[in-house]
Amino acid sequence: MNGGGIFERIRDEIGRRRRMSPRLLIFSSVITVLGFSAVCGSIMLEMRRNAQELARQTQENLASTISADINRTVELYDLSLRSAVISLALPQLSQVDDTIRRLILFDHAATAPHFGAIQVFDAEGNLTIDSASRTPERINRATEPYFTVQRDDPDLGLYISSPMQHRGAYSVVLSRRVSGPDGQFLGIVAGSIRFSYFQELFSRLRLAPHDVIAVIARDGTMIMRTPFRPDIIGANMMATPGVRGIFSQRRGWYSGDGAFDRIPRMMVWADSTRPLVVLVGKSWDDVFLMWRVEAIRIGAILLGLAVIVAGFTVFFIREIDRRAEAERRLEELATTDALTGLTNRRKFDIAIDREWRRAARANAPIALMIIDADHFKAFNDSFGHQAGDQVLVGIALCIGDTVQRAGDCAARFGGEEFAVLLPGLNATAAQAMAETIREKVELWSEGQAGVTVSIGVASMTPNPAQHWSVLFEAADKALYAAKDLGRNRCVVAASRSDLTLVA
Ligand code: GH3
Ligand code: MG
Ligand code: MG
Repeated sequence: MNGGGIFERIRDEIGRRRRMSPRLLIFSSVITVLGFSAVCGSIMLEMRRNAQELARQTQENLASTISADINRTVELYDLSLRSAVISLALPQLSQVDDTIRRLILFDHAATAPHFGAIQVFDAEGNLTIDSASRTPERINRATEPYFTVQRDDPDLGLYISSPMQHRGAYSVVLSRRVSGPDGQFLGIVAGSIRFSYFQELFSRLRLAPHDVIAVIARDGTMIMRTPFRPDIIGANMMATPGVRGIFSQRRGWYSGDGAFDRIPRMMVWADSTRPLVVLVGKSWDDVFLMWRVEAIRIGAILLGLAVIVAGFTVFFIREIDRRAEAERRLEELATTDALTGLTNRRKFDIAIDREWRRAARANAPIALMIIDADHFKAFNDSFGHQAGDQVLVGIALCIGDTVQRAGDCAARFGGEEFAVLLPGLNATAAQAMAETIREKVELWSEGQAGVTVSIGVASMTPNPAQHWSVLFEAADKALYAAKDLGRNRCVVAASRSDLTLVA
């Protein structure tokens, strides 16, 4: 008895799963694409970090090399200044002639291409000895910072001036104090490093258009910059965010917009303990240039993959839908009566079994009517089988027109018999409905075939122990009664199993 129920549940479950599968497919496709994206995303991030680290290392090495070169040059020149300062203290110096004196004071460093002459100034700032000339010019440098700072601070040591222009060329002046035996100020020794030195040094490097190299003094003065910008030379950079920080850490980097061109760059310095600090900057665009190309390539591949997955997903969903529709149609065909379009007997049996048990659970009435065409054999004999078929279609239409509630089930039961299942209807309501059908058939066929129907009606509130065949037998008996009573009428079986006929 429960067999039908189990099969029905299995079928429902299979149907549900089938409906689920497109969702499952979309879900797995989305997960696949997301998974790929996550993996590619993390790889790209890692590559980006690597690109940044590589740029930082390269920049740091460059900064370190340039810094070493510049500071060695400064040291070398400073050595010459120092040796001049020491020699000036020699008491014998005043006794030798000018040529010897200049040989003692100045080594050959001062004759190197980018170094200016070394000059000695007295305490009043007058030029007294010049490495480049036997007869020093009559010039006074008492107001120049490289003179005053040495005069005012005995312990200053080497002083590097801001860049200054001399005869159209830039240079920085280096000065050292000359002190007497008691520490009194006797003057300075000064020399200059021409910018041609920096220009030659930087010209040896192959820089990208947005690369920048800045040489900054410890007080924040911009000594030199490539690309060269005269307006920035000598400017104090301490106000620039990032520049201030380079003196708090020996080596490091910061990200900042160019102070003058607003280009965002990675700025790296290698040694901020030296007199001149070299800051090397590379635009972030250049840092990530290769990475960006890779990222776009991977992104494009990923996009292509996503499109392919989406394409496959749509294709498979359509395929699933198509199959589901085909199966649904097939099932409909298998459960529909070909002539009348009503439910066939197979499906009716399933429906009555289900509704019967449901009514038993709900303790609700369920009605069944069995409809049989009167004297149909005779009709067939007179008008032919085909005309008979037409009449059967007509009767089915009359039934279908009346039975429209969801849950109701009108079926062709076999031959010229029909059955209508009406869950929830008591005998009176079912009888009214049966009467409607009977009248409709009578009215319809009045002018033509003159076919009538007899209807047996039964309604019961099922007892869980009972099988629906009880209801069926009751309706069948009522039908017989209707036939017996002269046909073209409805007979209702009395409720309960005593089956006493009423009407
Ligand atoms: P009754 O009023 O007692 O029901 O008389 P009846 O002639 O209808 O009785 P019976 O059940 O003996 O005859 C049924 C007839 O219905 C037999 C057959 O010729 C006809 N029939 C059964 N199925 C079809 C069908 O599919 N098409 C047609 N045209 N006739 C059918
Ligand atoms: Mg019959
Ligand atoms: Mg009949």
